[in-house]
Amino acid sequence: MANNNVIDTKNLTRTYGTGDQAVYALRGVNLDIGPGQFVALKGRSGSGKTTLLNCIGGLDRPTEGTISIFGEEIGGWSENKLTAWRRQQVGFIFQSLGLLPALSAFENVELILRMNHVPAKERQKRTLECLDLVGLTKWVDHRPYELSGGQQQRVAIARALANRPKLIIADEPTGDLDTKTGREVLSLFRTIIREQNITMLMATHDNLIVDYVDQIMNLQDGQIQQIEYPQQAAAAELVV
Ligand code: ADP
Ligand code: MG
Repeated sequence: MANNNVIDTKNLTRTYGTGDQAVYALRGVNLDIGPGQFVALKGRSGSGKTTLLNCIGGLDRPTEGTISIFGEEIGGWSENKLTAWRRQQVGFIFQSLGLLPALSAFENVELILRMNHVPAKERQKRTLECLDLVGLTKWVDHRPYELSGGQQQRVAIARALANRPKLIIADEPTGDLDTKTGREVLSLFRTIIREQNITMLMATHDNLIVDYVDQIMNLQDGQIQQIEYPQQAAAAELVV
């Protein structure tokens, strides 16, 4: 049925292997996430967070169930179509940032635009805009090893924003950061999501997220156990 949801999954199931060896990574996940939502996916190691993100981002395919992104069911798409869609429509941020060490911050961000055949002038403009947004204007010519962990994380965020995605998928993006830097990065996500009406799904262990996200989905053994709405809870407390 048509609706406004950015992410819709029905009975999303992912099993690795078969028989005695089978691992039931996702066991029937039903999600409906609307536009502009900042959603955290929590759960202990092995609960299925990465598998869920990979399925939604088209990096892995479910064993059963359906995934619709912006109303389009991605399950039947060819690898080529999925690859093009990922490159053009989705921003990815992983814990191992995947920055290329030989390239400057500018070049790391610009690369995704080259891959999308964006003309040179537009590439330069957008790359600088994104690096400016994450506060790295002074660092554009620096290579990853000349930047702090927090700054590298910002380069990865700028890169995820470069193709102007409406959906960002992040796997433990603050896992390696100290508390202060972690808060800065989460606050930056919050701002970007508001300003650009992006939807973001982020796997995390981080308890700091409670101050920033709209929803916390708790995953346990491949199933969503509970959804919390921390901002609503905070607003209710103010009223009392
Ligand atoms: P999380 O990100 O929450 O730590 P994962 O999604 O990585 O959890 O893993 C969920 C379960 O699926 C784990 O039991 C893990 O060992 C298993 N798993 C993940 N990827 C594979 C794979 N490619 N082959 C076999 N088992 C896998
Ligand atoms: Mg994981």
